[in-house]
Amino acid sequence: MTATEIRRAFLEFFREKNHKLVPSAPIVNKDDPSLMFTNAGMNQFKDYFLGDKTPVSRRIADTQKCMRVSGKHNDLDDVGRDGTHHTMFEMLGNWSFGDYFKDEAIAWSWELLTDRLGIEPDRLYATVFEGAPDEDIPVDDEAKNFWLRYLPEERILYGNKKDNFWEMGETGPCGPCTEIHVDTRPEAERRKSPGRDGVNVDGSGVVEIWNNVFIQYNRRADGSLVNLPERHVDTGMGFERLCMILQNKEATYDTDVFTPIIGEIERLTGKSYGGSYAPDAKADMAMRVVADHLRAVAFTIADGQLPGSGGAGYVVRRILRRAVRYAYSFLDRKEPFMYQLMPVLVRDMGEAFPELARQQEQIARIIQSEERSFLQTLENGLSRFAGLKSDGGTINGNDAFELYDTFGFPIDLTRLLAEEQGLTVDEAGFQRALQEQKNRSRRDAAKEVGDWTVLSDEPSVFIGYDVLSDAGARITKYRTV
Ligand code: ATP
Ligand code: MG
Ligand code: MG
Ligand code: MG
Repeated sequence: MTATEIRRAFLEFFREKNHKLVPSAPIVNKDDPSLMFTNAGMNQFKDYFLGDKTPVSRRIADTQKCMRVSGKHNDLDDVGRDGTHHTMFEMLGNWSFGDYFKDEAIAWSWELLTDRLGIEPDRLYATVFEGAPDEDIPVDDEAKNFWLRYLPEERILYGNKKDNFWEMGETGPCGPCTEIHVDTRPEAERRKSPGRDGVNVDGSGVVEIWNNVFIQYNRRADGSLVNLPERHVDTGMGFERLCMILQNKEATYDTDVFTPIIGEIERLTGKSYGGSYAPDAKADMAMRVVADHLRAVAFTIADGQLPGSGGAGYVVRRILRRAVRYAYSFLDRKEPFMYQLMPVLVRDMGEAFPELARQQEQIARIIQSEERSFLQTLENGLSRFAGLKSDGGTINGNDAFELYDTFGFPIDLTRLLAEEQGLTVDEAGFQRALQEQKNRSRRDAAKEVGDWTVLSDEPSVFIGYDVLSDAGARITKYRTV
């Protein structure tokens, strides 16, 4: 099955189970200050769980554009290094708002994966919540018993609170989850070490694909749990990982979600992708990073978040600059080139996400200009970095700040460069230097505007430099809070 067919099969399956199909919410979260980017399918339904809004249907399914590069879920460091974590990815999900619960959710997960999509049953594992006696939360025997209809006991594993219990926050709806993992190893190897002892869930060869959350409790301010009057199901399955399993690949990058983009990178760079994850296979890593980051940047721009100097815009810029540096150092791209990948991305994803197709030209122009402006200082910044003397293996905070301030190097890029040399960065020192600059700018600004502008009562807050505006000038921005 192609990726497009797989996405369609998931949605169609839940449509047949009377779910209303809804579009993905934007990947950029404009109205929730606690969350810059959508990081799970359930984000857009938060109000339904809280009971603040009535759902359009008690059963919903969709594919949600997600991004995990900040806050609680930050997978950026794994991206390119493993074959299963992305910055931007699609999360397929089905929901019950006070309708079906564990029985149907588990039965349908099983039916979809095995009957409909053809995954061999003996490749599958489930995890269930082991309970937390100190907090009076019981073992999720219900989920376990439903799984016993399909799986032998040795392939149902217990998981702890970190992996198998979901909470919205300090208070509010929460509950146990059951996760589905797939053993991707060849059959001979599976036979050699079957069962609980032989399988290291999330270790080599066993991949988590789907999480089913059963929201049945409400945590009150005093920490106690009470049963919710209405119980809900919230599931999320990694689309790229599902494609990897169904297409029998070892990494998401080897599925047709990514091969066309990687193919285009090969064509444009004249290099070939070897699919290696060895630390010295830099060009392979660079191709994965570029392919992944292109999607993150293109989708966020399509949803209205331009690269910029503060907040979510700076996150987008950081991702883009990370990709530009990989392409510069390991794929010999000294000129903008990521923007040239847009036609292939749109060809493959434009149908499922028309917002991408509609704005293709504009997105390409923005990426190109961002690439160009960073390339203006990248080479000098890299030589500056190469000339830095580390202090017992640590890059000085002021040096990291200079790279940021003069050459536009986000701190995570400097950290990455340092790591490649076996060095660390004095990040506390960097933050101090950054703060000093903010204080200086605030004082200067106060002086400058004093005699000709009527100051409002509200204090201004420095929100960062646009280090590389098109004119090459440095623009300082303030916003009133
Ligand atoms: P992992 O343990 O692999 O980091 P997770 O437990 O953090 O995954 P969940 O929050 O349970 O992930 O999200 C539901 C599903 O979304 C996962 O089972 C996985 O298939 C997929 N997923 C999570 N993070 C990523 C990512 N960074 N890139 C691609 N798919 C992801
Ligand atoms: Mg994770
Ligand atoms: Mg996990
Ligand atoms: Mg999980």
